[in-house]
Amino acid sequence: MTAKYSRQELFAPIGEEGQKRIRNASVFVLGAGALGSSGAEMLVRAGVGRLTIVDRDIIEWTNLHRQQLYTEQDVIEQLPKAVAAKKRLTALNSDVDVTGIVVDVTPQNVLDLMAGHDLVLDATDNIETRLLANDAALKLGIPFFMGACVGSYGLTFPIGIEDHQPCLHCLLETLPSQTLTCDTVGVISPIVVTTAARQVADVLKYITATSFEPKLESTDLWTGNRAAISVTSMKKAECPSCSTDAVYPFLSARESMKTAVLCGRDTVQLAWPISRKFELDSFANSIRGSVSTLLHNPHLVAFEYNGHRVVLFRDGRMLVHGTKDVVTAKKIAAGLLG
Ligand SMILES: [Zn+2]
Repeated sequence: MTAKYSRQELFAPIGEEGQKRIRNASVFVLGAGALGSSGAEMLVRAGVGRLTIVDRDIIEWTNLHRQQLYTEQDVIEQLPKAVAAKKRLTALNSDVDVTGIVVDVTPQNVLDLMAGHDLVLDATDNIETRLLANDAALKLGIPFFMGACVGSYGLTFPIGIEDHQPCLHCLLETLPSQTLTCDTVGVISPIVVTTAARQVADVLKYITATSFEPKLESTDLWTGNRAAISVTSMKKAECPSCSTDAVYPFLSARESMKTAVLCGRDTVQLAWPISRKFELDSFANSIRGSVSTLLHNPHLVAFEYNGHRVVLFRDGRMLVHGTKDVVTAKKIAAGLLG
């Protein structure tokens, strides 16, 4: 062992034994945006054994003020976040086995993606994926360290540490409105770092087998308001996600093409089942004559088509920018892919 972790081992609650536990830990980071960048960087520097980070997006100029793993060059090259994150995280600490996966997490793939990890760090940007991950983590029997932030406000809660604690589904009606997003009301980087720090502190306590009471913690860095409350009484005996008769409702969805209007972004996402494979090389060649500003790299094909910017990812997702109309997006996809 090098001196790399000596100051962390000197911290008495961790010590050498705790560092060994950190080294043996396998962490799944759901999302490589702001919270994912910050949380993954802390975990990699702490020396976890294995870290998987998944994200469906590419890096944009609007990300750089808060997504600390990325550079201007990453935007120019239109790199997927999961690809750039893996590169940067591996450069930070080569001890860690980092995997970056460019994928949209869905009911069809979430269990396979998360299986084999010791815990899940929540760094997604939407409640649907968060509820899906909550169900998947409960079904797999691994903790889910929930975290969310918008504006100057952040919220954290560790789920699945103890059976008598509520899950995200139990708390759904109690939590603040989920309708505000970073794309509609903005966000400042200090709340990202604060929220991720709370999550990672709880993760380190869990990994090192430090006893702690999971609390719902909230902070507003602009007003200075803070709260840490015990929510044990909010556990619902009949919860379909965490009761003894759990049916994990968010995991059940048919295998079919999924469509989603990305909130506040004037973009429609189309996602095909895993069974449909895309060959990016042949696709790029097939559309070369009918599109403009074609960009093709190993991860995606991006271009302008009929006034829309379109991106097709290797995992079979297409983003159609410049519309909120699903039918318009489907027509474009049908016109290009058949
Ligand atoms: Zn529950």
